[in-house]
Amino acid sequence: MKGQGRNGFCEYDGELQSEYIQKLKLRDRLKKAIAEEALTVHYQPIVNAQTGEINKLEALVRWHDDVEGDISPVAFIPIAEKYGLIKQVGAFVLHQACRDLKKLHDAGHTRLSISVNRSVKEFINSSDELQVWEVIEQYGLPDKSIIVEITESTASQESSDIQSLLGYFKQRDIQVALDDFGTGYSSLSAVVELRPDIIKIDRGFIKELGSSQDSLTLVSLIIDLSHKLGIKVVAEGVETKAQLDILRELKCKYVQGFYFSKPVPLDTFMAQLKTR
Ligand code: C2E
Ligand code: CA
Ligand code: CA
Ligand code: CA
Repeated sequence: MKGQGRNGFCEYDGELQSEYIQKLKLRDRLKKAIAEEALTVHYQPIVNAQTGEINKLEALVRWHDDVEGDISPVAFIPIAEKYGLIKQVGAFVLHQACRDLKKLHDAGHTRLSISVNRSVKEFINSSDELQVWEVIEQYGLPDKSIIVEITESTASQESSDIQSLLGYFKQRDIQVALDDFGTGYSSLSAVVELRPDIIKIDRGFIKELGSSQDSLTLVSLIIDLSHKLGIKVVAEGVETKAQLDILRELKCKYVQGFYFSKPVPLDTFMAQLKTR
């Protein structure tokens, strides 16, 4: 570390500074992308492990920048959260997902429901849960066809906020899924208390299913606990038949991953449905 500069900033962070500038550039591009409606949504099927039937879809935001190419949500969602753009991104995805689900229902796939990712930050100190209801109503969709996915690590930090949020959603029939389960710090008692409708086991554990006894034990435990509590389980990131076979044996009901399909545009998904 070098000394403090006259302006009080550390000089050593030339690197940090350029990283900071990159972030600001990304923020400005994202603002522009939102304004120009350059974001899109792709869908990945969530499949019944026993029957192969598609019950749900996860909506995942996509951003193609003319200069930078495809920019991953892993890169820009944190920027959106940090710079106050996450509500706009969230509103866009929710509207698009509802519009697309309506199309699917109108095409006869009335049993499909859609999962949208939401940052907890979008809900804190706001009446955004109301906005979710309004949007669903606007498209004439049943409440139970919408699932809100929130990430466990954030959930435990802001457990009481989450608790009341879940309360709101439960008043209606909107389902709540705990995303990336197993990666955060939430305790088993938090799960018992929160009682989400769905738990999504993080793909890190699924990846190790065949090679790590610990992962196998953990996944098996999560599935059994969830079922005892009446919570549905989705295994994320299923890439191989071997993983699917293990999950079936463990009585995991829902699976999602590249083994079945990558996230794809709505048109591609609808074409896939036809050929099944
Ligand atoms: P996530 O919610 O855990 O979403 C699953 C991610 O895993 C997706 O990455 C998906 O493409 C990827 N995936 C699915 N199956 C497989 C597989 O078999 N193998 C591997 N290696 N990956 C698989 P994606 O679309 O890049 O999204 C990354 C994260 O960005 C999401 O993780 C979510 O946390 C966030 N995100 C995406 N869309 C939204 C959004 O609309 N709003 C918010 N707040 N966050 C979003
Ligand atoms: Ca998710
Ligand atoms: Ca996840
Ligand atoms: Ca995640």
